[in-house]
Amino acid sequence: MTTKPQPQPGIMDIALYVSGESKVEGKTEVLKLSANENPYGFSDKAKEAYLRSAVNLHRYPNTDHAPLREAIAEIHGIDAGRIICGVGSDEVLQFIVHSYAGVGDEVIVTEHGFSMYPILARMVGATPVEVKEKTRVVDVDSILSAVTPKTRVVFIANPANPTGTMIGEDELYRLAKGLPRNVILVIDSAYAEFAEGYDGGKAIVNEFANVVMTRTFSKLHGLGGMRIGWGYAQREVIDVLNRVRQPFNLSETQMTVAAAAVRDTDFAERCVRENARWRDWLRNALVQMGVGCDESYANFVLARFSNPDEAAACNVALKADGIIVRPVGSYKLPNCLRITVGDEAACRRVIHVIATFKGIR
Ligand SMILES: *Cc1c(COP(=O)(O)O)cnc(C)c1O
Repeated sequence: MTTKPQPQPGIMDIALYVSGESKVEGKTEVLKLSANENPYGFSDKAKEAYLRSAVNLHRYPNTDHAPLREAIAEIHGIDAGRIICGVGSDEVLQFIVHSYAGVGDEVIVTEHGFSMYPILARMVGATPVEVKEKTRVVDVDSILSAVTPKTRVVFIANPANPTGTMIGEDELYRLAKGLPRNVILVIDSAYAEFAEGYDGGKAIVNEFANVVMTRTFSKLHGLGGMRIGWGYAQREVIDVLNRVRQPFNLSETQMTVAAAAVRDTDFAERCVRENARWRDWLRNALVQMGVGCDESYANFVLARFSNPDEAAACNVALKADGIIVRPVGSYKLPNCLRITVGDEAACRRVIHVIATFKGIR
């Protein structure tokens, strides 16, 4: 017998999640481009809903999230009965590992994949199995060849964070088709709205009983501070996930704000348009300066420097100007900095500092 309480297997192997920094020592006017937040804030309608919700704080929220699920279903053209809502999409991802993986099981993640995935696998005692990507793009063949009888869940983000790259619908289908039917494929579509013409994986979910798509209000809708996300899958999976969800996981405020945000399609469309415009501008400006940059399908770009030292030095130069971006050494991209696409002024400022750093201006 041990002399102290022992945490469950895997828990002490978790390296704590590191979020984008938000402060620079000695600077008051910082430009935060480290967490893929919306530079245009959030919808006025969401703000009105937030204020309206203040009269009901003594009431428990509804447990079935019906009004929010109906708003999402209406806007996305999907079945409200196959949606589950969570405290950020992170909670929906947690429902998935909690329900489908455990001690001794394997969870496939990719080389530069979102750092929450291995954390979630370890939370339930499962082993994260990391597979190679192909020049910063998820590689369907390396995922399929890593599948073993112990595999329970595969996590990919499409578009991916922090690379900004994505795989096409044909490759997604090939992945879904190639996986054993007992393995859950998670298509994390946190950035789906920024990829023109992409449905986030909705059609694949309709076709495969083992695919879950997750979405968030944190990125396009600018509500990272409110913590709301959702998942879409076939009914049997949603029924399983609802069993591990706490009945009051979302407050009335979270739900009414999210419903107002999803219905404000004018605001969302404007943000998508501006993002696409300044994302292309940023990428072109970087490439012209000799800084590598893959085409991004998200609301950030990944600036690729010649080596880790140059990336670190550029990060120092940006910080000295009060600009916070995201070093991604922990994502096996030590020569890169992830930069959120800000508004016009932010993009111009960031490029000005990088150009000065490169000795170009
Ligand atoms: C930001 C992000 C999320 C969203 O997290 P929330 O919990 O909804 O705020 C999910 N997946 C990826 C890849 C992300 O970058």
